[in-house]
Amino acid sequence: MCDRCNGTHVVHNTAGSMAFINTCPECGPKSVEQLEAESRENKRRLQEARRLLGMEETA
Ligand SMILES: [Zn+2]
Repeated sequence: MCDRCNGTHVVHNTAGSMAFINTCPECGPKSVEQLEAESRENKRRLQEARRLLGMEETA
């Protein structure tokens, strides 16, 4: 895994009080496949959270 971005494809730079988020110079921007996979994972987590909340309500 990349040391600069820890696999996130973004690096955080600070200049004085300003903070910048930049694409990792080692890895480049995320591929479409990665973005789609992330989107799917986010949806899955949301559904999981809703399911857990629903269970809590009926418990
Ligand atoms: Zn990187």
